[in-house]
Amino acid sequence: METRLIKWSYSALKDFTTCPRQYAEVRVKQNFRKEDNVYASTGRAIHTALEQYVRDGIRLPDEYKSYEKYVRPLLTELTGDYRVEQKLALRHDKVPVPFDSDERWVRGIIDLLVLDHHDNTAYIVDYKTGSNKYADLRQLKLMACLVFHHYDHIQRCRVGLLFLNKNDFITDEYSKDNLSQLWASFAADLFRLNLAYETDHWMPNPSGLCKNFCPVTSCEFHGKRGR
Ligand code: SF4
Repeated sequence: METRLIKWSYSALKDFTTCPRQYAEVRVKQNFRKEDNVYASTGRAIHTALEQYVRDGIRLPDEYKSYEKYVRPLLTELTGDYRVEQKLALRHDKVPVPFDSDERWVRGIIDLLVLDHHDNTAYIVDYKTGSNKYADLRQLKLMACLVFHHYDHIQRCRVGLLFLNKNDFITDEYSKDNLSQLWASFAADLFRLNLAYETDHWMPNPSGLCKNFCPVTSCEFHGKRGR
């Protein structure tokens, strides 16, 4: 079997675990394309507005003005070195590399990163514009791993998912002492991902996406009601 290094990000791994068949058809073989939808484009517009607000002090457009009360406290209460849309990447041996490096193994973009160099603490915030029903903190575990490897002195990451439309801020905290456990939380999914590439075997995983939200018309489950 061929062994090669598979580049990944949190969203790619999530797509794979959601449905390996769709992942392969869209991301690997590129036989189908996911169409943009109104939720995705609105989410991007909100992220851009918040990026400009935090970094450049540009006022939020009226339709997003209500988010100011959630983001403003982050700017006044956290002290440190503010980074907006911080792009971080690692080689397979966890050495930091430029975001677009061909050597990269994993990479991610942090919506808001605040590095408190005095307290050796990083604050990681991810803005969410969707539902908080299935809040997924694993994404922030990966961001914490990236931060720990990029900033050697950082010993603690305090992380949060800020659900802008739900008035909800779900938080957690990770210590550098537990770095190997943080990485281990991705091991099983990465093993499956690598195995799928090596064998070129991509299992379908029927779900609620099959009926209306999947572009893979060649799949035997397409258009059907999933499990
Ligand atoms: S139709 Fe369903 S099972 Fe098939 S690729 Fe799409 S999401 Fe996966």
